Amino acid sequence: MKVGVIGGSYGGLCAALALRCVGHDVEVFERNPDFDRIGGGIVVQPDFAEYLEAFGYARPESAAVPTTRRRFLARDGSIAATSGDAVFYTAWDTLLRALRDAFDASRIHNGMTLRAVERTTSGVTCKFDGGQQREFDLVVAADGIGSLVRRLLLPDVEPKYAGYVGYRGLVPERELSEAQAELIRDSFVLYAYPRSHILNYLIPSESGSTQRGERRWNWVWYVSHTPGELTSLLTDRNGHRHRVSLAPGEMSDEWSARLRARAERLLPPLLSDVVRQTRAPFAQAIFDLAVPRMVFGRIVLLGDAACVVRPHTASGTSKAAADAISLAHVLRDHGADDAAALSGWEAERLVAARQLFAYGQQIASRGGLGEPEPM
Ligand SMILES: Cc1cc2nc3c(=O)[nH]c(=O)nc-3n(C[C@H](O)[C@H](O)[C@H](O)COP(=O)(O)OP(=O)(O)OC[C@H]3O[C@@H](n4cnc5c(N)ncnc54)[C@H](O)[C@@H]3O)c2cc1C
Repeated sequence: MKVGVIGGSYGGLCAALALRCVGHDVEVFERNPDFDRIGGGIVVQPDFAEYLEAFGYARPESAAVPTTRRRFLARDGSIAATSGDAVFYTAWDTLLRALRDAFDASRIHNGMTLRAVERTTSGVTCKFDGGQQREFDLVVAADGIGSLVRRLLLPDVEPKYAGYVGYRGLVPERELSEAQAELIRDSFVLYAYPRSHILNYLIPSESGSTQRGERRWNWVWYVSHTPGELTSLLTDRNGHRHRVSLAPGEMSDEWSARLRARAERLLPPLLSDVVRQTRAPFAQAIFDLAVPRMVFGRIVLLGDAACVVRPHTASGTSKAAADAISLAHVLRDHGADDAAALSGWEAERLVAARQLFAYGQQIASRGGLGEPEPM
């Protein structure tokens, strides 16, 4: 089949690779003109890491920074507890680059924004910015939380703000103090206080190096904000309003200053220093989203376009990959005209998504995330 994949991130690239693997003619359309994304760290679940390794797309030794322990900090910065940890910690760009390299660059069309999608008797027509139009036998919509395809097919389903934001930042390892370097060495470092927590781990450098001294300290700090505060935060330094996230360099000076002041007030000194050392903090608002359906004839939704789980599950990318790989299996075994097989795939993926969705909400509510923080 001729397959058009909308979105060139984790869901889209995994779908492209898996569908190509079972013999389809696949092209990817990504609105971003370049390979640039919000970046930051990413935790990869074991099943996704195994898949990446089995197909030779990425190997933990070259794409991830290993840890051996989790360190839990007290308010004064002392280590209150330690436990074992062995997870695939990598960088958004490192892994995405590996997936892009594994696919065919000439079949990834950057700077192509989908504007409309129409079902026809023989397949699906996609219309892009600039007037380009393409016909496909099957369209996979992996266009993320703001998915145009989902909005057209399920106009009543909307992402719901969860009441908090993940502030994020990166600091080059060479800029860390000795005490910071010692704290993060081989470790995932967590500091939790009522209704918030900040997590920290090392990730590869921008170029993907995992060499000591070249890596980056990655932090994510969950902070509650009212919808009004969120609107103000997501209004960037040029006055442009964003719906979900701010990329590095877009946060206004006022919100950057507030973030640093909050860190000074609430975090252990070494972590508050890391926030201060971060040149371009960025932010992602946390939303919930779950669709009732993923299959619409020859159009399929997957990844965040279909269901957004809380980041505490660290499962968004592996969920998107599992959607894609299992879809390829069903299409290989049954073709695209077997409605029962596709509806079986949909039912299975909706159950998996709902479980993760509920699990993410449980973790958040246990930590009081999204509730007003103490002043
Ligand atoms: C704070 C935070 C931390 C997270 N940490 C982790 C983690 O550690 N591990 C993990 O597994 N997951 C994590 N996630 C979740 C993870 O980022 C997502 O689940 C994952 O990116 C989903 O991939 P996707 O391809 O479905 O969607 P996205 O990554 O959102 O990609 C959608 C793509 O579609 C493109 N697009 C959108 N509209 C159009 C259009 N009209 N035309 C063409 N292209 C379009 C976009 O530009 C984008 O590239 C985290 C999320 C947050 C908010």
